[in-house]
Amino acid sequence: MKKTLLFLIIAYSISFVACNKNNNMEYENGGVVLNFDDHYVQEWIRADSLLKKYNWKATFNVTMINKLDAQQIEWLQYLELQGHEIAGHGLNHKEAVEYISKYGMDKYLNDEVDSMTYLMNQKFNKITSFTYPGGSRNKEIDSNMFERFSILRATTYGAEEPKKQRCFFNGSHLVFGLGIDENYEHYSKEYLEELLKYTRDNDCILILYAHHITESVDGIYQMKLSTLDYICDYAKSNNIKFMTLSDLADL
Ligand SMILES: [Zn+2]
Repeated sequence: MKKTLLFLIIAYSISFVACNKNNNMEYENGGVVLNFDDHYVQEWIRADSLLKKYNWKATFNVTMINKLDAQQIEWLQYLELQGHEIAGHGLNHKEAVEYISKYGMDKYLNDEVDSMTYLMNQKFNKITSFTYPGGSRNKEIDSNMFERFSILRATTYGAEEPKKQRCFFNGSHLVFGLGIDENYEHYSKEYLEELLKYTRDNDCILILYAHHITESVDGIYQMKLSTLDYICDYAKSNNIKFMTLSDLADL
């Protein structure tokens, strides 16, 4: 009986996950991983209250956990209870390559990573994903980080045609997100629409990140709440699945 169940689970998984011709993972109807970096907790909680209607799911990558107040921690715990993921983004938001070149790998891992995880694991579920501040990384750093996390997220830039974009999940546990704050040169609503359409039509998993979520954009690292509403509406209407970073580790 157990064997039959196992067989069914394996068969089911194989039927929904495969590689397409661009080596991206195919996932029936596609998926979207929405990331929000840093510590704009009040904006995130407000967005959550407005986007619940889509059953949306996001990953909140938190930095400076030691500087957040009790209310911010409580809001993050609430987001986690709603099914969102809380992930790590460095204790002090130091860029890895630069920090390591000055102080060495051990000090980076101690100061920025293990100290962060220690504090975060007391407040949230075990932290299993990490996003690099500034996307700063290399292979040596990755190999040390994979001893600690199942998914690492870096960044990619540029408005490549979708089939050449690196912001789709290809099975590697090192993933690349595309920034959708409006200050990124590659950002436009039209390009975002193109990526979403490609995600739907090719059963891909799209990985995006942003920072502030605001009514109107008046500075850097901001995206409009209405754009986020559009993404969630598009995903829900097209049966694109909302996924977290740690969901990718299980595919
Ligand atoms: Zn950041």
